[in-house]
Amino acid sequence: MTLRAGAAAWTLQRGHFHPSQTTHKKTHNLKKHILALLSSLTITVSAFGHGGVEIGPNGGRLLEFSKDETMHGEVTVKDGNFHIALLDKDKKSVALGEQTLTATGGPSGKAAKLTVEKKDGKFVIPAVKDGEWLILQYKDSAKAKAVTARLQYDTGACEKCKAQEWVCKCPAEKK
Ligand SMILES: [Zn+2]
Repeated sequence: MTLRAGAAAWTLQRGHFHPSQTTHKKTHNLKKHILALLSSLTITVSAFGHGGVEIGPNGGRLLEFSKDETMHGEVTVKDGNFHIALLDKDKKSVALGEQTLTATGGPSGKAAKLTVEKKDGKFVIPAVKDGEWLILQYKDSAKAKAVTARLQYDTGACEKCKAQEWVCKCPAEKK
């Protein structure tokens, strides 16, 4: 699926290049273009780019679990599991009570339901594979409206900050 999309993107991009212009630098740029194109193919929310993700107080990826920044989830990885802690508006720890979380994950377009456990005040979910998506639906209580948050678990090292891309500390790239 990804390979086929990649081939399509490659063909598409090549159409805009004259063979004489394919210097090394241009090839590098071309790769960037293809990566950008692939991200736009695999995500419905098109705002995703390099950098600009929020990092929580424990070095994890911060996700918005509310519509007004009053609740966040901080995702860290430990022993092959995602650990998701709840944080309030001041990024202070929130006790886990009646809040619920459902999770799906996997390759783009093929996400399957994941087991969510509550352990030591955190939600614990088996980690997805590198490059796959984690989609979370958070509720303050069983009756509350669900808030959806998602992340791509890209464990490749960022060239600039050396962190894994899914917790990249770089500021957002200008469009
Ligand atoms: Zn970075």
